Amino acid sequence: MPNRKELMIREDRQCRHFRSILEGKSCHAEINYSDLRKHGDLPCFGDTGDSIAKCSKHQPYTLEETQAKEEKFRTEFMHISIALAAIKTLSGTVGSIDCPQCQGKLSWTRSTRNKHIYGNCETPDCLRWMQ
Ligand SMILES: [Zn+2]
Repeated sequence: MPNRKELMIREDRQCRHFRSILEGKSCHAEINYSDLRKHGDLPCFGDTGDSIAKCSKHQPYTLEETQAKEEKFRTEFMHISIALAAIKTLSGTVGSIDCPQCQGKLSWTRSTRNKHIYGNCETPDCLRWMQ
């Protein structure tokens, strides 16, 4: 399991057009993964060498973009920790609190089986997690 720093280095080299093969047969730049694989391994993660296919649309994130994503991750992690601490003081299996990140409505559910908490803010692209 790579650590956070290794993940960030990998993410820094990853193409901005990459989309999980679980989400589609092509990337966001409409490059078909199967067609690309006929020429070698996928170049989407910034790997280089003779075994890696060439992609005319490969465009890795900039250092500034990677740093902004890291800052967003840290902020969201902190806000999720604050939300979890607030939810743990409440009883029941469902409810809502004020979102620590945007002050919108953050709905939560606590599993009766393992007490894990799922949270989802009403604001698009805000906090959302599953323990
Ligand atoms: Zn929110």
